[in-house]
Amino acid sequence: MKERSPQQEDLAASVNVVEQRSREVLNHFGTCPRCGYAAQAFVKRTAYADGRVIFSTSGLCALPCGWSGPTTITKMNDRDDLP
Ligand SMILES: [Zn+2]
Repeated sequence: MKERSPQQEDLAASVNVVEQRSREVLNHFGTCPRCGYAAQAFVKRTAYADGRVIFSTSGLCALPCGWSGPTTITKMNDRDDLP
């Protein structure tokens, strides 16, 4: 399965991070791949000194089964409300 990923960690290694923040995606509709319960999704926004901004996503199970990992954000609409 091919997932759309905004991660470009290799390109980011050589420049300074000037801002990094993460927030929950409130309208995410993903599920935990381990137990099937609803999973939370977080978007991490990293801004670099050269002006680039990179978003990466991660998931976290809402039940304590321990799963966390990369996930694909599944939203209820197409509106891109990233910060
Ligand atoms: Zn789970």
